This record gives sequence, structure tokens and C-alpha cells, in this order.
Amino acid sequence: MRLKHIEISGFKSFAKKATLSFTAPVTCVVGPNGSGKSNVVESFRFVLGEQSMKSMRGKSGADLIFKGGSTAPKVSRAAVSITFDNADKVFAFNPTDDANKAPVLFEEVTFTRELYPDGTSRYLMNGTEIRLKQMVELLSSVNIGTSSHHIISQGEADGILRASARDRREMLEDALGLKVYHFRIKESENKLGKAMETLKEVQSLRRELAPHLNFLKKQVEKVEKGRAIREELEGLLVQYLATERAMLNEEDNRLAQANNLITNKKQQLEEVLATIPEQTAHDHTAAERSELSAQLQVIREKRRATESRISRLEGMVEAQRQMLIAQSKQHTHTAKAVVFAAEEYRTLLSDIELLLRNIREAQSLDTIRALLGRFETLVAQLKAREEKEAAPVETAPLDTGIKDTAIELEGLERDLKALIAQEDKTQRRLQAAEQARDAAMMAHQDATRKRYELISEVKQCEAELQILAASKTTFVERKELFDTELKESGFLFGPSFLHTLQATQPVPEFDLHTQKRAIDRLKIRLDEHAGIGNEVVTEYESTVERDAFLAREVTDIEASIRNLETLIIDLKRILDEQFTNGVKVINERFGDFFKTMFGGGSAFLSITLEKKRKRKNMDEEVGAEGEDPEQSEGEEFERGIEVHVNLPEKKVKELNMLSGGERSLVSIALLFAISQVNPPPFLVLDETDAALDEANSRRYGDMIELLAEYSQLIVVTHNRETMSRASVLYGVTLGTDGGSKLLSIKFDEAVKVAK
Ligand code: ATP
Repeated sequence: MRLKHIEISGFKSFAKKATLSFTAPVTCVVGPNGSGKSNVVESFRFVLGEQSMKSMRGKSGADLIFKGGSTAPKVSRAAVSITFDNADKVFAFNPTDDANKAPVLFEEVTFTRELYPDGTSRYLMNGTEIRLKQMVELLSSVNIGTSSHHIISQGEADGILRASARDRREMLEDALGLKVYHFRIKESENKLGKAMETLKEVQSLRRELAPHLNFLKKQVEKVEKGRAIREELEGLLVQYLATERAMLNEEDNRLAQANNLITNKKQQLEEVLATIPEQTAHDHTAAERSELSAQLQVIREKRRATESRISRLEGMVEAQRQMLIAQSKQHTHTAKAVVFAAEEYRTLLSDIELLLRNIREAQSLDTIRALLGRFETLVAQLKAREEKEAAPVETAPLDTGIKDTAIELEGLERDLKALIAQEDKTQRRLQAAEQARDAAMMAHQDATRKRYELISEVKQCEAELQILAASKTTFVERKELFDTELKESGFLFGPSFLHTLQATQPVPEFDLHTQKRAIDRLKIRLDEHAGIGNEVVTEYESTVERDAFLAREVTDIEASIRNLETLIIDLKRILDEQFTNGVKVINERFGDFFKTMFGGGSAFLSITLEKKRKRKNMDEEVGAEGEDPEQSEGEEFERGIEVHVNLPEKKVKELNMLSGGERSLVSIALLFAISQVNPPPFLVLDETDAALDEANSRRYGDMIELLAEYSQLIVVTHNRETMSRASVLYGVTLGTDGGSKLLSIKFDEAVKVAK
């Protein structure tokens, strides 16, 4: 890594392009006062990204642009380019900041800064615009830091002694190449801060989401419960309706069949009933029977009168017979015969008498008829006897009376016989009439009974039909309920429900009543779970997803926070270790240089803990200091660097009690020591030797040569001794146009110019 040249154009007093080439280890810039030497030094600061106008002696950007001279016009921009030989590839440029991509390695690297009157700057690397940050990082990697310890301006030689302990620490860190850790710490802390903020935001989002999520969860549970109820209801309804449908069909058939059956039966009964006339109990035989009874009465009376007459006549016969017997006793010749005849006669008569009595008392016609036979025989015998006796026996006068009586008796007996026959006939006719009446009565009763039976059966049919009608009404109501239920189910579950129902068989042993109650209960429960749309589920799912995403975010952010915290701790630890080690090394060099410069004595740096300064904002605080991580919380402390000197043969130890020259020597010794640890590619020294006497100038010159072994030196000086150590000399002159000019000169010329 070697500094090749610097080109100055339009910067401060350099109106036209001026180039300084650094071909030797030590380059001196000489010139009269006000020629623009310090402007050259500032052009280094400028091109390396200096942001402080003050350190370039300006108030605004316009102050750094050539304002015009006596004849030279002002220019519209200032531009300075610095070129390094990058053959050793120290500058490794990564334009995308992507660590995985191979960096661009140029043979030669030129950084350019352009400044415009409005104060804006452009930074370029090999002609390509880059960000200031990228340039600063690249320069840091080669120990060219922004604290510019390698550019010592005029009057700034003892700046390091005047600086605060904290600023000294920054200079050291810069020189030790530790700035990169600060950048990384700052970057990590920024990331950490952002991560913390994001974490808070995400956690807050999650907290905000939680009640909504909870609400949605409950809603979804309700929806799921509703869905389960719905499924249960659907299953139950399918079974219920399938069974009910079958039952209704069965009932419909049963009712239709029963109705047909009973209607037919009724019709048949009515037809039969129509064939049985409605009769009034009518007795056709009453007149006949009455007449026959009357006739029978008359006949019987006649018969009794006849019998009575017969009886009386028989008595008369008996009496006459007795008289005859008595008469016979008076008439002997005829007595015997008469007695005998009378005896025989008497027996006959007594038999007849007995027979007549029997006839009278007889109860049945047959007996009467039988007795009448016997009576006819006895009467015939009596007649024959009487004829036989009449011949030999002279009829007594008395015989005439008996004969008449017998004749009358005979007539009466004929009458009696006729009467008995008539009675018998009449009796039989009466009996037939009565039988006819009884038969008619019986027929009437039978018909009436049959009618009653039929009417009763018809009534029974009607009652049954009424029951059927009531059943039909119940059936119709049940069917309507079924239809309503079916319609509702179709509406509730859609057409698929009806297809399912179509294919579902009735469930045997299904308790319709109990299941209907269960269905109604489920419907009420479903109603309680209704009103929540499926969009809730979608919203819940997306909310759960969002919450899970946020939870993952939290986990990721927490992990990255832990990583960043660990990284920051590690970086700070490394920074601390390297700083402590660096200070140790610097101390060794510092001690040596100090002894060289003062011809004895000792000097060293100590690390102190300083109270932290109040910062305006985070950005300034972060990355600009190497605070102790253990001290970063609670008490605000930061590291500082204190300079301790022991001058030979002097007891003075306070820096502010040193002379100007002594201060310069200490500063130079320290600056050179710092430069030795991580030598920068170049050192720019603007009249750091101004306060040295001749002896010290020589020592200074020796040190310049020593340092030149590690870094290229660009030295602005009026000092002859210093000039004598340079291989290349540039003279700066102020041209007639008012602009600075650079020209390579020889030592003698330089001495002249310097004077
Ligand atoms: P000395 O030896 O006295 O320190 P020097 O050589 O270091 O002097 P500089 O300080 O570099 O001189 O230059 C100062 C000169 O630059 C002044 O003359 C000043 O007018 C001139 N100058 C500064 N800024 C501008 C500018 N923007 N435009 C023109 N000239 C400028």
C-alpha cells in the first residue's frame, strides 16, 4: 500500500489542478507564508472525508471552493483525488455490502471528493460514486482514520496533549484500527435498538390481538359446538324422518284399509238391513182366535148342557128302573125275568153312567174319543138287550117312559158326540190359530232382533269410522308436522339432506317421541349457537396464523436480540482487549521515543475511567466510545487515556507546566509511537517542528527518517534540518492570478523558498 499522488483542483487557494506525487519516503512541502501549504494538508483531510469545516478552516462548503483571485475566476466545485497503489490488495471493495460476495480488488485505488457551493459532497472510488461510510470503512481498514492522528495540522502538534482523556482514547483507537469495532458495535446497537422497538411493537400487537383472538376462539368454539349439534341434529333428523315417513305410510295404509273395510262392512250391513222391513208386531189370527174361542165357549156350554141333560135323564132312568123293580115284585110271573133284566140293565146303565162321568172329566179329546167308543158299544149293548126283552115280556106301561127317556138320551148322546167332535175341531182350529200367532210373533221378534243387531253393527261401524276419522285428523296433523319438519330440514341442511333421507331406512326400535324431544332440544341449542358465520372461523384461522407469525417474530427477534447482545459484548470485549494491548505496545514505543527526544526520562500512558459526557443523542453516543460493558449500566463511565511524563533531571510532571518545545517533543514522541503500532500508509505533518531548536530539530529529523521506514511522510516545514531529510521537495507559490501553484524543487531552492 503506497500513496501515489494527490490532485487538488478548485480547492481553497488551488484554482487549477495541482498534483503532488509521492515517490519518496519523505516529501517536503515548502513555501512562503500564505502560499497555500496548509491548504495542501487540508486537501488530505478533505479528500479523506473530513466533515468538520472548522478543521479545514472554513465556515461553509463554499469556503473550501476557490473563490477567485486577482485574475483567476472562482470555480464551481472543489475536487481532490488521492491515489493509492493497491498492488498488495489492501483495499478490498465490496460495492453491495454483501459479505458473501467476493470484493473488487483494484490495482490502483483513487478516492475523489467533490464539493459544491451548496455544501453537498460526492465521493467516488475509481470514478464510481460511493457512500461516505463505505469510503471511511475502507480507509479505516488501512489505518487511515477520521480522527486524523496521521494528519497533524499547523499548531496542532501538541493537540494530543491538549485533548481530553476521552479524545486521546479515540485517537488511539483510531490509530490502533479499532474504529471498525465501534462501527460494528454502533451498527449492532442500532440493530439492537431497532430489534427492541420491533419486539415491543410485535409484543404490543400480540397483546392487542389477544382479546380479539380470545373472542374469536370462543366464537369458533361456539361455531364448532353448533356444527357438532348440527351434525347430531342432522343425523337424528334423518333417522327420525325416515322412521316417521315409514310410520306415516303404514298408518296411511292402515287407515285407508280400515276405512275401506269398515265402509264396505257398513254398506253390506245397510244393504242387509234394507232387506229387513221395519215391522210392527201384527197379529192376523186375533179375530179368528176370538171367534174360535167364542165358538168353543158356546160348544162347551152346549156340551155341558147336554151332559147335564144326559145326567138328569140317567137319573130319571134310574128312578124309573127302581120303580120297575118295585113293580116287578108285584108281578111274580115276570118277576124273575124282570129282576134279571133289571139287574143286567142296571149294570149296563151303571157302566154307561160311569163312562159318561169319565167323558165329562176327560181332559183330552183323544180320551174323550176313546171313551165315546166305549160309550157307543155300551149303548149298542143296552139297545140290543132292550129289544130282546121287549119280545117275550110284555111291556109294562111304565116301559114307555124309560123308552122315551132312552131315546132322548140316545139323541142327547149323539148331540154330545157331535158337540165333542165340534169342540175338538174348534179346539184344533184355535190351536192352529194360536200356533200361527206364535209363529208370527216369533218371526217378528227374530226380524226385530236381527234389525237391532244390524243397526248396532252399523252403529259400531260408524263409531269405528268416527274413530278412523279422528285418527285421520291426527294423521293429517302428524303428516303436516312431518312435512314442516322435512321442509325445515331441507332448508337447514340443503338438498344433500333430502338425498340422504331418500337413502335412509327406518330405524327399528326408534322411539319417535323421545327422539322428537331430543330433536327439539337440539334445535333450541342450535339456535343458541346460531348467528355466527363461518367467516369467524376464517378470521380466527387467519388471526391464529397472524398470532403464530407474531409469536415466531417474537422468538426470532428475541433470538436476534440475544445474538446482538452477545455480539456487542464480544465486540466490546475484543475492543477492550485490543485497546489494552495496543496501549501497552504504544507505551513501549512512547517510552523509547521519549528517551530519544529528551535524552532520558520516561513517559507512559495510563487507561483511566472518565465520567461519561452527556450526549445530545444516541447516534453520537453509540460508536464513538469504548465504554466498559460492565460500567455501561448504572454509573456512566468511559475509558480515557492519561499521559504521564518524567523529564530527565526535572521534577515537573504536569503537562501544562512544560515549555512549548517540550510539549512539541512529547507530542511528537507520542504521535510517532502511536504511528508505530499500526503504521498508516502516510503521515502528514504541518510544521510540527516549528517550535524546535536546532538540537531538537536534529532529533526530530532522525525520528522522521525512522518513521519513514513504516509510513510515507508528507512534511510541511520551514525547517532546514527537516527539509534535509526529504528526497522530494515541493514548493508552493502564490501565482499572479491569486491561485497557489506547486512545483518540484531542489533542496537549495527549497531553503531559499522556506526563508
Ligand atoms: P503559512 O506558511 O503562513 O502558514 P501557508 O502557506 O500555509 O501559510 P495557507 O494557509 O495554506 O498558507 O493559505 C492561505 C491562503 O489561501 C490565504 O492567502 C488565503 O487567502 C487563501 N485561500 C484560502 N481559502 C481560499 C479560497 N477559498 N479561495 C481563494 N483563496 C483562498
